[in-house]
Amino acid sequence: MPIPFAFENSYARLPQRFHARVAPTPVAAPRLIRFNTELAHELGIDPALFSGPEGAALAVGNRLPEGAEPIAMAYAGHQFGHFVPQLGDGRALLIGEVRDRAGRLRDIHLKGSGPTPFSRRGDGRAALGPVLREYVVSEAMHALGIPATRALAAAVTGEPVFRETPLPGAVLMRVASSHVRVGTFQYFAARGDMGAVETLVGYVVARHYPDLQGASEPGLALLEAVADRQAALIARWMLIGFIHGVMNTDNMSICGETIDFGPCAFMEAYDPATVFSAIDEGGRYAYANQPPIAQWNIARFAETLLPLIDPDEERAIARASEVVSGFRGRFEAHWLDGIRAKLGLSSAEEDDLDLATDWLAALHQGGADFTLAFRALGSAQEAAGDGDAALRGLFGETTALDAWLPRWRARIARDPVSAAERANAMRRANPLFIPRNHRIEQAIAAAVETSDFTPFDTLTNVLTRPYDEQPEHAGHAAPARPAERVCRTFCGT
Ligand code: AMP
Ligand code: MG
Repeated sequence: MPIPFAFENSYARLPQRFHARVAPTPVAAPRLIRFNTELAHELGIDPALFSGPEGAALAVGNRLPEGAEPIAMAYAGHQFGHFVPQLGDGRALLIGEVRDRAGRLRDIHLKGSGPTPFSRRGDGRAALGPVLREYVVSEAMHALGIPATRALAAAVTGEPVFRETPLPGAVLMRVASSHVRVGTFQYFAARGDMGAVETLVGYVVARHYPDLQGASEPGLALLEAVADRQAALIARWMLIGFIHGVMNTDNMSICGETIDFGPCAFMEAYDPATVFSAIDEGGRYAYANQPPIAQWNIARFAETLLPLIDPDEERAIARASEVVSGFRGRFEAHWLDGIRAKLGLSSAEEDDLDLATDWLAALHQGGADFTLAFRALGSAQEAAGDGDAALRGLFGETTALDAWLPRWRARIARDPVSAAERANAMRRANPLFIPRNHRIEQAIAAAVETSDFTPFDTLTNVLTRPYDEQPEHAGHAAPARPAERVCRTFCGT
């Protein structure tokens, strides 16, 4: 007898106006594409539940596990700077929460499971391509050590979805620490429903920030804690070359997990102005804009909490503003810690920030691949011999690199670890494999056009060990050749 899901469903217990109760809409011919056995074990879910036709039915929502209470969550959000008072789960459902082996509550979510009262003009469905992209990238983020929602299962529906052309439909079973967003707070604050905002603060504190329980000023304490987790998260994105692409407030998770992998992409040649998303015409969500945009989103979050921070509005604004302006400093501290590790520095010196920014300027000047340049730096500690040949080969123009390398070598000479230890530490801080855009597109094309899931499986497998040399998959480490380059990505809608 497979162990059933031990659902707790705390969000479904919140007042009615937090969600709409709605069942998934069954699909014609579900077929499982991939199941994440390791994640199932972590969640205490028996993988056997997902085998055979019954398992495929479970993965798309045709069959609900006992104890599931599917709900569409209500939320609002600023999309590209414009406030939309009602968004909500229009093509997704929270089917329940399970407690994982570590005792943490995790959401089990279906994306692409049919219309809900929040669907507006959408069909409630997802196409196969975006489901595969989210599967690959969210799992890669996790393997890179970056907080992210996870992918438990992906299945095709056997039904077409109609975008510009008919495409195969699919459903993703997603796992998250929760799906509460900045936009969830905005939904209630915009309605003047401060009772609901207070309920949500209590819920989020209990679930994600238990240390704040009993804080004398819960609103302000939560604002600070969320700002810090976001600062840490965005620093990790910047250090890995990740561009989210659609940092609307409804896509900012309150617990500090990366969520919503629509038009996201990884940068190849280092350029702070890089944008991939086809709908981001103004470059609002360009790589270098991510920290200030996160701060902007935190300011929107702060606005929802003002009445809880102080009954006197002016005083509330002053105190919240202090936290919001502190975001930059929090981000820089997290980023500096991370870049030190990537540069092989185990100690801290005053000039490290300059050293780091000049390294990035050298990458920019040389058009070097962001990921590979950091990886190659570890082998370039000694100037003698061919120590830095691999590194130099990544740069088209090396003037800035030539000026920088002696400064770095002088700096690591003052750092108290051996060259071998440093090389090891740098291999753990600088991945060899990232989900490169052209590889994702190739995997999606094979799946959509010829139902060949081999490239998707290979790519997903390689990315579970991003820091390990995998000589048989060396091609997956390489940047796109000019003809393979993918410069535009599209939302999953
Ligand atoms: P996203 O761009 O995925 O963050 O979605 C923004 C909003 O649009 C959310 O409220 C989604 O639920 C909704 N949405 C996106 N795609 C669809 C769809 N195909 N059908 C219904 N609602 C959708
Ligand atoms: Mg979203």
